[in-house]
Amino acid sequence: MIQIDCPLCGLRDEREFTWGGEAHICRPENPDTVGDEEWGSYLFMRQNPRGNHRERWCHSYGCNQWFNLIRDTVSHKITSIYPIDQLAPESGDDNE
Ligand SMILES: [Zn+2]
Repeated sequence: MIQIDCPLCGLRDEREFTWGGEAHICRPENPDTVGDEEWGSYLFMRQNPRGNHRERWCHSYGCNQWFNLIRDTVSHKITSIYPIDQLAPESGDDNE
């Protein structure tokens, strides 16, 4: 089990958190004008990197706050935790 350093509560076991999928997925500004291919991409297409992955997490059994982090999908080592409304640090772009 990994441990996650919640920005508000500190280090806690993974079981207190909910994984929210890939971070930085932007909803199209005007969905009525988006074609099926772009809408499908928004809904379903996600990265599946071997290495650093930017993810959303929620401390569901704690402060209930969402935040982003960068986790290595092989080692599960977390290299960065940052607010949900900020861009990823440079280290999260290794796989793009
Ligand atoms: Zn928390």
